[in-house]
Amino acid sequence: SSAGSGSLSGPVMTKQELLRYENADFPWSKELEQNLKNTFQLSKFRPLQQKAVNLSMSGKDLFLVMPTGRGKSLCYQLPAVCSEGFTLVVTPLVSLMEDQLMYLKSIHVEAATLNASSTKEHAKMVLAGMTDTKAPFKLLYVTPEKIAKSKLLMSRLEKAYNAGRLSRIAVDEVHCCSQWGHDFRPDKKVTPIHQSKYNPLLGILKRQFPKVPLLGLTATATSSVLKDCQKILCVPEPITLTASFNRTNLYYEVRFKNSNSEESIGDIASLIEERYQGQSGIVYVFSQKDADSVSEDLQKKGINAYPYHANMAPEDKSRVHRKWSTNKIQVVVATVAFGMGIDKSDVRFVIHHTISKSIENYYQESGRAGRDDQPADCIVYFGFNDIFRISTMVVMENVGQKKLLTMVEYCQNVDRCRRSVMAVHFDEVWDDEGCNEMCDVCRHGNDYITVDVTQHAKDVVQIVELASSLDEKLTPLKVTEAWMGKGPAKRRKMIQTTILSRLEVEAIITHLLLQGYLSEDFSFTPYTTYFYLKLGRKASLLKNQSHSVTMKMRKTGLDANVVSTKQPAASTGISSNERALDSSP
Ligand code: ADP
Ligand code: MG
Ligand code: ZN
Repeated sequence: SSAGSGSLSGPVMTKQELLRYENADFPWSKELEQNLKNTFQLSKFRPLQQKAVNLSMSGKDLFLVMPTGRGKSLCYQLPAVCSEGFTLVVTPLVSLMEDQLMYLKSIHVEAATLNASSTKEHAKMVLAGMTDTKAPFKLLYVTPEKIAKSKLLMSRLEKAYNAGRLSRIAVDEVHCCSQWGHDFRPDKKVTPIHQSKYNPLLGILKRQFPKVPLLGLTATATSSVLKDCQKILCVPEPITLTASFNRTNLYYEVRFKNSNSEESIGDIASLIEERYQGQSGIVYVFSQKDADSVSEDLQKKGINAYPYHANMAPEDKSRVHRKWSTNKIQVVVATVAFGMGIDKSDVRFVIHHTISKSIENYYQESGRAGRDDQPADCIVYFGFNDIFRISTMVVMENVGQKKLLTMVEYCQNVDRCRRSVMAVHFDEVWDDEGCNEMCDVCRHGNDYITVDVTQHAKDVVQIVELASSLDEKLTPLKVTEAWMGKGPAKRRKMIQTTILSRLEVEAIITHLLLQGYLSEDFSFTPYTTYFYLKLGRKASLLKNQSHSVTMKMRKTGLDANVVSTKQPAASTGISSNERALDSSP
């Protein structure tokens, strides 16, 4: 899998020197091994864990970048158990803190917490425990606010430090330190107050306790965010270990979804019945309504599926979660509300009935498949209308449209490895590893043609132009229908209609939107937001005789659609994509 192909930065160590830390011949190696097996009940380290633990045990400052669910916590919990004194863990999420405490309690590792809801007595006990040589806890979880606000805590930390009892400092979700890190944060539960408070204050730890190794952990951070964190935390020369975000056991696939959504549900149902029989999975949908209706449709087809969304009663939610976790429910049909705290390792498929709102979101959501490193599938159904449903949903977000288009591009892509398309969006933290035909594009090779769509672009742009000259706005559906000759008869005479299939028409309009020949034009009513198409910044280029527009289209998709939806193709004996689309040389 993502086998320890870490990269490093910082002048402290060469790659060669770093290799040494993958070994198990350190003075502490035996103890680590024993605790890994006996205390944590784990058979072996995951990629990078051993290296990270050894570096931290050697007293190095370390930034560890690893995808969610890969096991970052172990990298400070295990050293904590194998060291004198205690490890201070700074974490911005009280809910995660509580999860960790419960988990540690279940494996009999002593841990304590100090946060805003701690009682006076509890706080007193914890503060006293920090210098107690009997070590009543191995880990102490605190919020960033506590560090910033509690002089008492700082004074106790200093005492502990001087007594050699502060063995390590871990800063979880370390990207939160940087003001640029927030866009990338995986969970929205980090409230703005933390964002501002996390910022300048945590540097005090390394300034006051320079000899204590610090470990910063994050799932998503670019090198610029990490540099910023390094500065804010006052860590002079940390080693950065970056796990590959490439989940090599996941198979990525995009399927086209007809506007007729019944068809995609039938498709999903047969996938589950045939390919994933008896296997655990998630179907992600767009809305609560879809969660109910899709799960009902699947149930009707005999599939053991249940809905999950934010609007359900808490006890219903936890029941669905629990039954799914114990394999009494096969499929959860869920909105993205089903995410936090999901830790099922044998999820064999994550099917998106609707595209995600960004490629980062898709990576996270689909990434819940195959956490056990066994093969699993991530399939997304790409429907034209869904683009605009999501678009109006994210209209208030500053970069909402831009991010949505990254997802659309991923789906529309026919010629590049799905992994490499994803990798771009993870900036430097992605290692460029092979795909091994674990995506539909790599598996089906050169299954596409490049077509010249210049004339199509002109025709579509003319439709939008004409509407605007008549002071009319057209939704994508209206543009589609007008071009296909289904608009008002009067109008049909004034435009060039097409005989392309609906899916081809939709693909071309999507392409024109992605390329900037068309752009979005929102309109608000008190009840709903409308998405219209208007001319994009590149539309005027089409007036230029020498300007051409090409696009790549999937061959199989085209043939299938052409045959199934267009009667002339068969009757004339000419494949209609030859007829309608000029293949470029
Ligand atoms: P992260 O913080 O990176 O999102 P966690 O530390 O919460 O991930 O760990 C996710 C899950 O992986 C936990 O259930 C944990 O027990 C499990 N895990 C961690 N290390 C290993 C390992 N070496 N082998 C198997 N499971 C592991
Ligand atoms: Mg974590
Ligand atoms: Zn590939």
